[in-house]
Amino acid sequence: QAVEPLAQRFERSSLKRLPERAADSYKNMFGHILIVGGDSGFGGAALMAAQSSARSGAGLISLATRPEHLTAALTRCPEVMAHPVISGQELEPLLEGPDVIAVGPGLGRSPWSEQLLARAGRAQVPLVVDADALNILAVGRVLAGVKRDDWVLTPHVGEAARLLGCNTAEVLADPRAAAVAVQQKFSGVVILKGAGTLIAHEGGVDLINSGNPGMASGGMGDLLTGIVAALIGQHLPLVDAARLAVWLHGEAGNRATEDGQRGLLATDLLPWIRRLVD
Ligand code: AMP
Ligand code: MG
Repeated sequence: QAVEPLAQRFERSSLKRLPERAADSYKNMFGHILIVGGDSGFGGAALMAAQSSARSGAGLISLATRPEHLTAALTRCPEVMAHPVISGQELEPLLEGPDVIAVGPGLGRSPWSEQLLARAGRAQVPLVVDADALNILAVGRVLAGVKRDDWVLTPHVGEAARLLGCNTAEVLADPRAAAVAVQQKFSGVVILKGAGTLIAHEGGVDLINSGNPGMASGGMGDLLTGIVAALIGQHLPLVDAARLAVWLHGEAGNRATEDGQRGLLATDLLPWIRRLVD
């Protein structure tokens, strides 16, 4: 891997942990996470982000999604407060409560998607921005020119290329430079995902090698988004949350491959996220 000498490598032992929970803890201490996403045809992505937030120790989770996904979401994960949203206006009251907002999983690129991103992007709490939220950002019709220190962007190589207006081959040729360029363009923390994930932030670039090719399947990135949001909600600084989340996600992927890499499902990682997060 050409990037290794240029990035600081992080192993589990060097990552900040979550503090132990005090005996008199209550749920509000561990963050209320709002997941925004799930346009028609993509409801699972937003739900999986909500589920991984739940398995990462978030205190409360809300989900803002298309009404057609509510029954499935609540059946699969009744711990989530699922709200039907048919316009940006309906998202507005939901933006009052949460400590962290994750926007993008299954968001789509429709006018509905753009309205939701525009509203979520005005919230004054830390944001995790993933998937189609990044693709909408790249086009520049929503949140154009915005830089924030309190957001984490989680592009894969294709999304990073769109954010930079270049092609995927250019990102792959020098992933470290691409991660730095995205961070310089948008500020905050950038997680450039792949086989070997780079984390670019003001202090430099980190490399975390965890995970395996079994994770090259739909839904894996949505889990990472939920984990990052949950760790921010549990008061880790953004960079520490990004590092721990990337490690946790990959390690959960490794533990879940007992039965092989092929056919590994994103939801297979959920029990492992829980076992590893402490
Ligand atoms: P996404 O493309 O958004 O679904 O994200 C995929 C997730 O799975 C990212 O966190 C990647 O780092 C991880 N992943 C995918 N393929 C591999 C691989 N070959 N090795 C390690 N991690 C991978
Ligand atoms: Mg993705």
